[in-house]
Amino acid sequence: MPSWPNSNETSDDDDEFMSEFSSMQMEYFQTPETVIDPSFCGLVIESDRRCILHRQRAGKFVAFEGTDTGRRFIGCATEDGVNCGVLEWVDAPWPVILQRCLTKLWDMYHEQNLGRAQDNEAHGTEVAKLHKELDSLANQYSQLVDDVSKLFDYQDGIKSHDMDCTSQAINELKEKKRRLEEQAKIELQMEKLKLKKEQSHC
Ligand SMILES: [Zn+2]
Repeated sequence: MPSWPNSNETSDDDDEFMSEFSSMQMEYFQTPETVIDPSFCGLVIESDRRCILHRQRAGKFVAFEGTDTGRRFIGCATEDGVNCGVLEWVDAPWPVILQRCLTKLWDMYHEQNLGRAQDNEAHGTEVAKLHKELDSLANQYSQLVDDVSKLFDYQDGIKSHDMDCTSQAINELKEKKRRLEEQAKIELQMEKLKLKKEQSHC
């Protein structure tokens, strides 16, 4: 496997490891994003290559970031905690034109993501506005329902009031009729008595 300028040879020797570690720059820790490629993945089995910090068996990766997109590298295989980064690039840096194209593609991708995020935000604002309107409409609706039911209650009240008046009038008429009938009976009896009296005088 070829080795490229920004790689560091490691050995199991502790002194070498320590000097290597102390001279190590932060860029070694900046592990690029990777993509899983079935032709270059898993742990390194061809050699006893170990990562700098953890001294664990190194892994095979394919970078998926910026101008390094698609470059294979040997790197730290630790999945949690600090990843101690690239040990060795397998592929040389891409030709400059390809690097520029990759940069452009990533820029387009990030721009589109940003646009989508902005769209999402605008959409979220619109949704919040619609929710507010919906709440307001719901309030107006329940107010309307209240008003209508109050109106019905009022009309029912008037109706029952009317009914009360009518039945009162009927009762009054009935009472009047009863009194008139009674009066007529009395008058009839008086007429009968008068008639009897006249007959007895004869
Ligand atoms: Zn490591």
